[in-house]
Amino acid sequence: MNAGTHRPTVLKVDAQAIRQNIKQELGRLKAGSELFAVIKANGYGHGLTHVAKYAAEAGATGFCVAILDEALELREAGFTQPILVLGIVDPQYAQILADQKISVAVGSREWLETANKKLHSGAKVNVHLALDTGMGRIGFQEPAELKTAESYLNEHSNHFLFEGIFTHFATADEVDDHYFETQVARFKQFMAVLTKRPKYVHVANSATSLWHDACTGNMIRFGAATYGINPSGRVIKAPYALQPAMTLSSALVFVKKIKKGRSVSYGATYTAPEDEWVGTVPIGYADGYPRCLQGFHVLVDGQFCEIVGRICMDQLMIRLPKAYAPGTEVVLVGKSGQRQISLVDVAEQAGTINYEIACSFSERIPRVYVND
Ligand SMILES: *Cc1c(COP(=O)(O)O)cnc(C)c1O
Repeated sequence: MNAGTHRPTVLKVDAQAIRQNIKQELGRLKAGSELFAVIKANGYGHGLTHVAKYAAEAGATGFCVAILDEALELREAGFTQPILVLGIVDPQYAQILADQKISVAVGSREWLETANKKLHSGAKVNVHLALDTGMGRIGFQEPAELKTAESYLNEHSNHFLFEGIFTHFATADEVDDHYFETQVARFKQFMAVLTKRPKYVHVANSATSLWHDACTGNMIRFGAATYGINPSGRVIKAPYALQPAMTLSSALVFVKKIKKGRSVSYGATYTAPEDEWVGTVPIGYADGYPRCLQGFHVLVDGQFCEIVGRICMDQLMIRLPKAYAPGTEVVLVGKSGQRQISLVDVAEQAGTINYEIACSFSERIPRVYVND
């Protein structure tokens, strides 16, 4: 899809906010710990290679992505740091992993056996064994399975480097620690059967690193908080002020006064109770601005303005307190005057989480980088 560079709708990404969040977190880690920035899904919507650059500038020593293509895009862009693919990569691509020095999460011995057959002689894949301590998504279920995988790696050290071991917590962003502690206990049982700890032991996503310092490991997978996204929404305060990196803004492209009784948008679901000013904003659900936000608000000149009528694919209408000229700025996520709309505000209204809103903004919205 072409980005709409001839339309005023832009997603501004503040490089300094990203660097600041990473530096704050690095300052809290114990000596010798590394931070890998999680930049899957186009850097949570902020732009994969830009975020990689800012994260590296701030001290991130590696990257995590979700799929092989994201890792390949980073290599093509010239990033030479360690990259870990957190999702399952089909073992038929093992040779690509070896050629590009891309590390991969492995959750079964079968994966290793298949990959072993695909690898040319001399090719080596860096493996991070995934432990399912309670997330129920990928990884070994039992310490005995881990043991056989470790032996397999040692027996086939011509094709594999056992580089890391990790787990992922399901409830690190919640106040109740009960399930978290169950996962920690299972993790310890797994680690007890290893004959040798690999280079990287990592258990922490943003929430774990922010709120559970008791956890062992020497690398963290820092995702949401990199972007100033609080993993708990507004439930738990971060130990430092997370700086939101994303601002979404547009401009009025059409302004009119409608008479009392006139309706707005599909379904004519909104009818003006009195004469009022209505502005049209060039953003819609095709841009990832959820259609269910009818009735929510945006900011114009420091004032909240209600979204009236259904949100269309490419446009939405707002009620204005007075006549504003076309070209006037409209803030959908971010600050205007004394007021602010956060990703959490948008997410709550849409019945989802801040993560989903950030990574849903489509490629049609150009990303503009500031403090680059
Ligand atoms: C996405 C992901 C992360 C990052 O999580 P955040 O909550 O965004 O910090 C870390 N680890 C794994 C396995 C993930 O899938």
